[in-house]
Amino acid sequence: MKFLEKYQKEFAAYDQLDHDFIDDDKIWRQLNEHANPTAAEVRRVLAKAEGCVRLEPEEVAVLIQNQDPQTIEEMYRLAHTLKEEVYGDRIVFFAPLYISDECANNCKYCGFRSSNTAMRRKTLTMEEIEQEVKIMIEEGQKRTVLVYGESPATEVDFMCETIRKVYSVKTEHGEIRRANINCAPLTVEELKKLKEVGIGTFQVFQETYHHETYRQMHPQGTIKGHYRWRLYCMDRAQQAGVDDNGLGVLFGLYDWRFEVMGLLYHTIHLEETFNGVGPHTISFPRITPATDTPFSDHPEYAVSDADFKKLVAILRLSIPYTGLICTAREKDEVRRQVLPFGVSQIDAGTRIGVGAYARSKKANELPDKEQFTICDSRTLDEVVSEICQMGAIPSFCTACYRAGRTGEHFMKVAKSKFVHNYCLPNAIFTLKEYLLDYGSEETRKIGEKVLNEHIERFRGEPVYERIRQIIQRLENGERDLRL
Ligand code: SAM
Ligand code: SF4
Repeated sequence: MKFLEKYQKEFAAYDQLDHDFIDDDKIWRQLNEHANPTAAEVRRVLAKAEGCVRLEPEEVAVLIQNQDPQTIEEMYRLAHTLKEEVYGDRIVFFAPLYISDECANNCKYCGFRSSNTAMRRKTLTMEEIEQEVKIMIEEGQKRTVLVYGESPATEVDFMCETIRKVYSVKTEHGEIRRANINCAPLTVEELKKLKEVGIGTFQVFQETYHHETYRQMHPQGTIKGHYRWRLYCMDRAQQAGVDDNGLGVLFGLYDWRFEVMGLLYHTIHLEETFNGVGPHTISFPRITPATDTPFSDHPEYAVSDADFKKLVAILRLSIPYTGLICTAREKDEVRRQVLPFGVSQIDAGTRIGVGAYARSKKANELPDKEQFTICDSRTLDEVVSEICQMGAIPSFCTACYRAGRTGEHFMKVAKSKFVHNYCLPNAIFTLKEYLLDYGSEETRKIGEKVLNEHIERFRGEPVYERIRQIIQRLENGERDLRL
């Protein structure tokens, strides 16, 4: 119980606040006030969104409540345009690395919850992490997100050790260049330690912003049972100097319309408190079935594919400079549908069990359910090939993070639309590396075509020759080159 006590002491400060920045009644009031907006109201909001600015809650409520097919199509078109303007037509790739499924919490929807006796628990040893990372690198991964339960087995010093381990693994073809992390909320002191070892994005999903639903999903007496400890974890991250943060909602726990408003209010809170720095990414997983977890089979607020598509577009329109992550929990056809509306990051070649990369090599098959279910189980090469066929650039780029362009610095370039001036050439280089080192024959063919088309778009600009030179150096065997 010492583990819980350590955090309980920290809860007191939050218990003293008479309110937090999520006002459930106000959110419903705003949604209800804008029920059935007119086409003119929707278009007024879209005209503002065209300017690539973060929208206000009343405006987002209008988009959320819009039921008119014609203006919904206009929302999709603008979401696509904004995505191209801010991010260019590149999609960043990553894959998760599950470090531990030991967990002291008891979240109703999760296969890792403590009351789930069907799970055999495991925390990877350093040797096992090395084995997993080698397999990931050999499949072509450059970016990962380390995932942990919340338990004494994975306290912060252990997390730091795992991150150092991941960065230390090198193979003939390279290394993991960016390790993000998805874990439980931490104290400022703990977060400082994570900063020191060089984590990328610090992700914690609020799961649901609705206070009462949160209480029902996360039993009191567990650490996760404390809504505000979680709600303010990105404030603590900023205080610790971890300024690259990822928010998220687990869709299906409560009404999606409320949750989108929750994400917006969280963004506004961070921007107002930390000099304009909002979330670096937003994730929007939908619940998928988990081992022996009846709740996850039929969540009460399951989001339909049509609403899912709409919510992705609304996030892009409302918070235009934030990365949007669509994970392999979604089926490939759903991912294909939502990509154009603003998704900037996807995972591929994903295994979600602890030790699952090594296991899948041995058994050559994926387990059907674990913490949740993976619906897009294609290989990295298959997904890279598909993105190329769509004419976009699969990117493994880590340049911004390694050049220190995070937090305020990142927001400046993102908000002024300069990201793709750095990012497109660097994305091109990482795709070239992928094709040279890992691409199947078919992927190379389509990949080279897309590369050339994109490089030619720079013709006439001073940077064109530099891009050509770097491509030549990569062909000659150099690696990890960037502008
Ligand atoms: N234990 C940490 C926590 O809860 O914040 C982080 C790791 S947890 C393994 C990562 C995320 O998986 C959770 O934040 C939750 O949104 C998601 N998740 C849990 N159960 C899920 C399910 N049945 N389907 C889809 N996603 C799920
Ligand atoms: Fe544990 Fe996270 Fe699963 Fe909750 S969602 S049971 S905290 S791993």
